[in-house]
Amino acid sequence: MRPFIYEQPTDISAAVAVASRFTTNEDQPTRANAQFIAGGTNLADYMKLGVAAPNRLLDLNRLEEPALRQIRVTDDGIRFGALVRMGEAADHSEVKRRYPVIADSLRLAASGQIRNMASLAGNVLQRTRCEYFRETSWACNKRVPGSGCAAMEGFNRQHAVLGASDACIATYHGDFAQALIALDAVVRAEGSRGARKIPFARLHRLPRDTPHIETDLAADEIITAIEVPAMPWARRSRYLKIRDRESYAFALASAAVALDLDGDSVREVRIALGGVATVPWRAKEAEAALQGKKLDEASASAAAEAAFADAEPRQHNAFKIELGKRTLVRALLETRDMKV
Ligand code: SF4
Repeated sequence: MRPFIYEQPTDISAAVAVASRFTTNEDQPTRANAQFIAGGTNLADYMKLGVAAPNRLLDLNRLEEPALRQIRVTDDGIRFGALVRMGEAADHSEVKRRYPVIADSLRLAASGQIRNMASLAGNVLQRTRCEYFRETSWACNKRVPGSGCAAMEGFNRQHAVLGASDACIATYHGDFAQALIALDAVVRAEGSRGARKIPFARLHRLPRDTPHIETDLAADEIITAIEVPAMPWARRSRYLKIRDRESYAFALASAAVALDLDGDSVREVRIALGGVATVPWRAKEAEAALQGKKLDEASASAAAEAAFADAEPRQHNAFKIELGKRTLVRALLETRDMKV
C-alpha cells in the first residue's frame, strides 16, 4: 500500500476545505489525491490492492454534526444521516415498518460485521467488484482510462446486461441503492460550491465512454444525508436477492418492488433491478407495463419482458436475462401477497 497522510476533520466545512485544497474541479472523487473515508469497507480493500492510491485520507468519523449519525422519521419521510451504519438502519423499527424494501436490502447486503462498520453514504458509493478492475495487471478503463477492458473478452459471468457500453460492462454491486432509486430518494451533499440536493436517480453515471466517472459528485463533495419521501403504501415492498450461495454474496439478480394495489389492480408500482446493470437501475418500462393491470403471473411476466427488452448479453452472462426476469416476477408476486 502506498503511504498516505491521514487526517480527522471535526466539521464538514473543514473536511471540504482540505479536500478542496488538494483536489481540482477536474478530479474524479475516486481518483483524487484527497479522498474521504468512513467505514472503509470498500476503500481500504482497494487501497491494499493498489486499485485506489490517494495520498491523503480524510476520515469522516470525527465530524461532530449530530445529524450525520441520526435517523429522523417525520410525516415527510425518513432522513438518514450519511454516517449511520447499515446495521443501524436495517434494524430500525420504523424503517422496517414503513419501508421493508430498505431494511431487506441492507440486511441482505453484507455480514453483520460489515453492516456494523459500513456507512450508508459509503455503501451507495461502493465501487464495482469486477475481477479485472480489482487486479491491477489487467486492462481496465475504469481504473486506468483508455487502457481497454479485459472483461469484454474475459470471464464476464458477473457482468452487466443493462446499461453497459463499449468501454465498460461492470456491474454495480450495491443493494441499498436499488431500494433508494425505486423510492425516489434524494441525496444531500456539501462541497466547496455549497450545499445541494441530488435526485438519487442522478447520483450514479452510466459508463458510456468515461467509466472512471462514476457519480455526479465533485471530489470535494461529501454526502451528508439520504432522504426518502413519505410513501405510506411502501409498507407493501420488498427486496429479493438471488446469489450463488445463501451466505453473503453479491447479487446475480435482484429486484426492489413497492406496490400500491387497488383490489387486484396496480394503482402504482416502483421497480428497481440489481446485479444486472452498471448502475442502480429503475425499470420504468416494467412499471408502465403494470399500471392499472391486474397483477398476476401473466402481467408480471410481461413487465419482466419489458424490463429486459434492451438487455445485451456477453459470452458468459446471458443467463442473467432469464434469471433477472424470473427474479422480478417472483418479487412482484411475493410483494402482492404480503400481509400489510
Ligand atoms: Fe474495468 Fe469495467 Fe472492464 Fe471491469 S468491465 S475491466 S471495471 S472497464
